[in-house]
Amino acid sequence: MPKDTIKHDPSCADDYDAQSKSVEQARASIKQLISPIKDTEKLALRDSLNRVLAQPVISPIEVPSHTNSAMDGYAMAGNDLPDGEKATTKNYQVIGKAFAGNPYEGSCESGQVIRIMTGAVMPEGCDTVIMQEHVERVERVEGVEGVEGVEGVDTDKGITQIKIGSNHKAGQNVRQAGEDIALGSDVLNVGRRLTPADLGVIASLGISEVAVIRRPRIAFFSTGDELKSVGETLGKGDIYDSNRYTLFGMLKRLNVDIIDMGVIVDDPQILKQTFLSAASMADVIITSGGVSVGEADYIKDILDEIGDCDFWKIAMKPGRPLTFGSIENTLFFGLPGNPVSVMATFYQFVQPALHYLASGTVKYPLTIQANCLTSLRKRAGRFEFQRGIYQQEENGEISVQKTGQQGSGILTSMSQANCFILLPVEMTQLEAGEKVLIQPFDSFI
Ligand code: AMP
Ligand code: MG
Repeated sequence: MPKDTIKHDPSCADDYDAQSKSVEQARASIKQLISPIKDTEKLALRDSLNRVLAQPVISPIEVPSHTNSAMDGYAMAGNDLPDGEKATTKNYQVIGKAFAGNPYEGSCESGQVIRIMTGAVMPEGCDTVIMQEHVERVERVEGVEGVEGVEGVDTDKGITQIKIGSNHKAGQNVRQAGEDIALGSDVLNVGRRLTPADLGVIASLGISEVAVIRRPRIAFFSTGDELKSVGETLGKGDIYDSNRYTLFGMLKRLNVDIIDMGVIVDDPQILKQTFLSAASMADVIITSGGVSVGEADYIKDILDEIGDCDFWKIAMKPGRPLTFGSIENTLFFGLPGNPVSVMATFYQFVQPALHYLASGTVKYPLTIQANCLTSLRKRAGRFEFQRGIYQQEENGEISVQKTGQQGSGILTSMSQANCFILLPVEMTQLEAGEKVLIQPFDSFI
């Protein structure tokens, strides 16, 4: 007699759903629905760090503005160098000094050099600098005024002589005007997130204010009757709301304005009101919980009713299912309730979406290769983001091993980990010693 079966006995195919989207398809669908923010504001240069440029920075000057010395040494005319073919040396008269911010005003003739410091404007008639380490000082020179008994050139007497050898090239050790930035050139483009180096570059152009895109406003809340906020007492079956804290932390690191709307109970009317009020304030709403097929999971239905609901199953773990859509002009991300799923879906979908919304440029998490020290198992049919710890070995290579338990509710696995280990959809096992791709968490900032 065959054993009794029911239509939906557990099977390996449970995690496979022909309707689900791949991570790439989900990203592409999300991107399609986003119109990058266009509103701009003017900010003082220091306040623009990490902000997104709304207008290109075009150079109003040449940088450097004058041709200057790249070394401490002696400036001279390149065509007055000793003859390299004959390997000769030649003596030159030092006729003056040039400092950064204090140029030499005269010109330099054949047989003459000018003592010059790094950054000093090249004197007239000079196009070449000989490093001071490459000259010999001629200490006593007959018949030259002011040099008798003077040691070297660093005296106030000023005039002395030096000897230069033949291994020099005309034009050496000189920074040309405009060699870093030419007049009128595009220095930084629209959509660029300004780095510390960018602030320096903009300052080097003498620009004190920049036009940037306004920051996106993000409203977020947790949903669930079981959730208590920190400071409240837990009743039977209650848990503390941790998602609002991980979301806060992940958002805080980005350049966004945050609106924390607290914990909302699983009540369709209250949820609907909260959706509408969040949509009136924010560019993006992020919720956690209530996106599954349980009886208290209302998020998808409410989004369908008052907005557009795009999809809700992704072939990934953790992170399935996820709701994405919009309420008028506000984007909506309904993340799963499980704490690890919240972080995984935030990093894979929400953060890239916020980046695109804020800048119009695309940036997905950095992926690098590592040697996997532990063997890994998974089911086919879904992309897995296992939690790992990577480190750089003495030979410079990156190795990775998985953290302990991998359940979607085990938030400490995220806290112990410093990267996701990426296991492609069709893979079922990876042996220790094989290569694997990882996403370091520290690149998510
Ligand atoms: P749900 O998607 O609402 O069914 O939630 C899935 C699981 O995640 C349940 O065990 C919830 O109790 C848990 N969960 C939901 N929201 C939170 C939250 N804000 N903080 C911690 N755990 C949560
Ligand atoms: Mg729930």
